[in-house]
Amino acid sequence: MAAPEAPVVVWLRDDLRVSDNPALREAVDAHRPVVVLYVLDDSGTPSRPLGAASRWWLHHSLAALDASLRKRGARLLLRHGDAEHEVLAVLRETGAAALMINRRYLRGEREQDDRVRRTAQQDGVAVTDHLASLLHEPGDVLNGDGERFSVFSPFNRALLRSGPPRQPLPAPSAIDGWPGDVRGEALDALGLLPTAPDWSGGLAETWLPGEKGAQRRLDEFVHDRIGRYAAERDRPAAEASSRLSPHLKFGEISPYQLWHRVQAADAPEAVKEKFLAELAWRDFDYDLLDTHPDLDHVNVHREFDAFPWAEVDDDVLRAWQQGRTGVPLVDAGMRQLWQTGWMHNRVRMVTASFLIKNLRYDWRIGEQWFWDTLVDADPANNTAQWQWVAGSGADAAPYFRVFNPVLQASKFDPAGEYIARWVPELAGLDAKGRHEPWTIDGDLLDGGAPDYPSPVVDLKRSRQEALDAYQRMRG
Ligand code: FAD
Repeated sequence: MAAPEAPVVVWLRDDLRVSDNPALREAVDAHRPVVVLYVLDDSGTPSRPLGAASRWWLHHSLAALDASLRKRGARLLLRHGDAEHEVLAVLRETGAAALMINRRYLRGEREQDDRVRRTAQQDGVAVTDHLASLLHEPGDVLNGDGERFSVFSPFNRALLRSGPPRQPLPAPSAIDGWPGDVRGEALDALGLLPTAPDWSGGLAETWLPGEKGAQRRLDEFVHDRIGRYAAERDRPAAEASSRLSPHLKFGEISPYQLWHRVQAADAPEAVKEKFLAELAWRDFDYDLLDTHPDLDHVNVHREFDAFPWAEVDDDVLRAWQQGRTGVPLVDAGMRQLWQTGWMHNRVRMVTASFLIKNLRYDWRIGEQWFWDTLVDADPANNTAQWQWVAGSGADAAPYFRVFNPVLQASKFDPAGEYIARWVPELAGLDAKGRHEPWTIDGDLLDGGAPDYPSPVVDLKRSRQEALDAYQRMRG
């Protein structure tokens, strides 16, 4: 039997979709059989090892992608191990003629892609890469002096001035899958799902990972929520935001698809602008990660290296992680995170501020917990946003802006609906009781919320201690 024709290989990473996928589109247009490859590399370099919630998501996303490829005549080849080694091995084992990728942005990832390119080219394999997961290449949005922006608003204005992004590419209706034989792993063998205990029930109830789930969320957002977005996005009970973040993180939807769909929506221009500005934060954070590759552990403002963080009390840290701090909005957010793998943006700010300022724990401790528990845990957004709250980041909230979780609750969850949803022990209380149960008469509280703990810190005193610590750091 004649050997199968030399294929082209598409190595997918943060772009687990068939529509608007420039690398896959180029492969299909090459009119050769296609191998679509994903490599799980647990080594921790160059990509940060995925947290547990992201691993759960990845399992289901890969399953959805494989099903979608099979419908089109191809399949997903899975390998497990050192990514560089595995990709080069697949190129050799299949006798590939070309490799197509969409670009990644961690410094180590870029370096790895460069090494793969050099070795593949030495072996006679052509390598091409594409911009796919961001609206602009990091470093492309510059001010009048040709410098990068360190502040978001002018960055966003410059982005808007550069005109609409390209139109999304349609999904190929058929993909000529390579018929040859090459070793692959079964999805289950990658060990991505939690076992003993399986804590993923709440995630499965909340999400449909994969491109179909992403499109469904987008449809729902554009039909039902976008009109309320600008006015209600800060209200956690309103559920007015898109919840597309995990789909964007895994590349099940592209920012180009999102941008054009929202731009075409039947909604006031100001609302669309507000949404597209949030999407632009993603590009801004990736720009920042490009100039600060150690963003996950090094303060952008190095004066914070001398910040006098408090010593961690394991019981208190566990109370924060499990939503038992006795501060209702913080607990509601942390329980939403634990049960669904996602937390509302306003509440992310409040829970992070509570850890960094009221408890005075190093922001890296909270960042790591979010990394492990968020389904949208993103190497640029998570680190940049934790540093934003800490005051150590670029264009950050100043350290002395300490979110008061009670005021935040009365402003953004006035009836305590969100609190009652996630902290049901407080549901029987009125709004004031839900916001500050410690002010409620003892008997009433015993009747309404006997199991709810007292606050682990005094909010007023700890705020002052945080401000004093900040002054000590500044000398
Ligand atoms: P929408 O309001 O519908 O926004 C649409 C998209 O724009 C989002 O999906 C997201 O990709 C992007 N976006 C929105 N807000 C921001 C923002 N402030 N910064 C960067 N991008 C934004 N976002 C992540 O995607 N991954 C993270 O790991 C992450 N960690 C965070 C940690 C902290 C402490 C804070 C304060 C924020 C964090 N965010 C993170 C940003 C933001 O909270 C989420 O992007 C948002 O809540 C996702 O919900 P959504 O898709 O409904 O957002």
